[in-house]
Amino acid sequence: MADSVRWLRIDFDKCIKAGECYYNHPELFRRTDSGYPALRIRRAATPAQFREAQEAMEVCPSRAISYEDDSTD
Ligand code: SF4
Repeated sequence: MADSVRWLRIDFDKCIKAGECYYNHPELFRRTDSGYPALRIRRAATPAQFREAQEAMEVCPSRAISYEDDSTD
């Protein structure tokens, strides 16, 4: 799986603007003026991006970050 491309998704119905993603993983996320995150990149394709995405998913307190093809809702 690590050599494939996976699309990132933020569920804004779940996001509580805690900021863990953009403070800890600025390579993937940025803070918008509203306090919500935005994706800097739409897909994870490198080992570093997969690692960053995995860590962001784990630290998000509301589990709002996932891969688009995950059916974890
Ligand atoms: S860590 Fe989760 S809850 Fe916090 S801003 Fe990012 S997506 Fe939203």
